[in-house]
Amino acid sequence: MILNSIKQKLLPKYKKRNWPGLINAYKSYLPVSNKTPIITLKEGNTPLIFSENLSNLIGNNTKVYLKYDGLNPTGSFKDRGMTMAISKAKEEGCEAVICASTGNTSASAAAYASRGGLKSFVLIPDGYVAQGKLAQALMYGAEVLSIKGNFDDALEIVQKLSKEYPITLVNSVNPYRIEGQKTAAFEIMDDLKTSPDWLCIPMGNAGNITAYWKGFNEYYKKNKKYKLPKMMGFQSSGSAPLVDNIIVKNPETIATAIRIGNPVNREKAKIVKKESKGDFQSVTDNEIIDAYKILAKEGIFCEPASAASVAGLIKNKNRIKKDSLIVCVLTGNGLKDPECAIKNNDAIFQKNIEPSLKNISKILGY
Ligand SMILES: *Cc1c(COP(=O)(O)O)cnc(C)c1O
Repeated sequence: MILNSIKQKLLPKYKKRNWPGLINAYKSYLPVSNKTPIITLKEGNTPLIFSENLSNLIGNNTKVYLKYDGLNPTGSFKDRGMTMAISKAKEEGCEAVICASTGNTSASAAAYASRGGLKSFVLIPDGYVAQGKLAQALMYGAEVLSIKGNFDDALEIVQKLSKEYPITLVNSVNPYRIEGQKTAAFEIMDDLKTSPDWLCIPMGNAGNITAYWKGFNEYYKKNKKYKLPKMMGFQSSGSAPLVDNIIVKNPETIATAIRIGNPVNREKAKIVKKESKGDFQSVTDNEIIDAYKILAKEGIFCEPASAASVAGLIKNKNRIKKDSLIVCVLTGNGLKDPECAIKNNDAIFQKNIEPSLKNISKILGY
C-alpha cells in the first residue's frame, strides 16, 4: 500500500485534448470513490503563463508566472471546488444547494447544480455583483435572491438555513470545495516540475489560499523536490480583515470578489501564513487597477480581485531574492466585470466618426 503510493506517478498522463476534468485527473488525491457521480464541465488544466513584462519589472532574474484560472468553464477558480462539492452533494442524495456569493460562487454553483440536476439558491449583495456573474447565475438556472446587505450578512443566513433544512451549503466552509481547489497547486507543480518560491494570491474568505497550501503540502509529502512556497496573501485596503486582524463592518473595494469583512477561513489562513513563513498585505484600489492594466498590456484580462495578487507582487519588488520563481494566481476572468474595464483603461476610443476613407486615414495619422 505504502510502496504503491510512493511509486505512484505524480504527473498525470493526460494531454490537454483528453483532459477528463480535475476529479478524474487527480482522483487518488481526492475523497471520491467509484460510487461518486462525477459532475464535471472539464474544469482545471488551466494555463500557467510566463509573464515577460512582470519578470522584467521585478528584475534580478526573477521569473513570474500567472496561473490563469479565469479560463475555467464558468470563468473562475470556483469551478475547481464546485465540481467536488456538487458531486459529493449528489452522492449524499441531496436535492438542493445554497450559497452566499460575491458573484463567482453563485455562477459556479448554478452551473454545476444544473449539470447535476440539483436545485440551487444563491444570495448576493444588492448592487455589488459584477454583471457577467449575475448574468451567469440567472442563465444557469439558480434562484437568485439579491439582499439589502453585504456578503457577510448573506453568509450568516445561508449557514443557518443549511443547518435547519435539507439544503447543502457550497460556500468554502464546505470541505469538498477546498479539496477540489487544491488541484491548482498540483497543476502548477506538474507544469514547473518544482514549486515556486512565492505564491501570490488574493484573499476574500481565504478558502483558496488554504486549498493551495494543502495542495503544496500533499506533493511535498510524497516528494521533497516539491518545496513549500511562501504564501503571500493580498487584500484590498478597504477590505483587509486578515491583514489588520479585525472584522471590517463595511468593506469597500472595486474588487467586489474580495469585498468580505469577516472571512470564514480566518483561523486556517493564520496557520497558512505561519507555517509557510508568508505574509498578508493590503493593496489599494489604485494599485489593483495599475496591475489590471499591466496584465492586459500583455494580453491577459483578469478581474480586479485577481489583479490584487500582481499588485501585491509589485509592492514587494525590493524584498524578492535574486533568481526567484514566483506564481501569481489570476482567480477570475476579466469578462466577468466589463463595467470596470470600460471605466479603467488608457485606450484611445473616439466616437461619432464620419465613415469616409479620407477622414479615417487622417485620424489614423496617414
Ligand atoms: C472567490 C474569489 C476570490 C477569493 O477567494 P477566497 O477563497 O474567498 O479567498 C478571489 N478572486 C476571485 C475572482 C474570486 O471569485
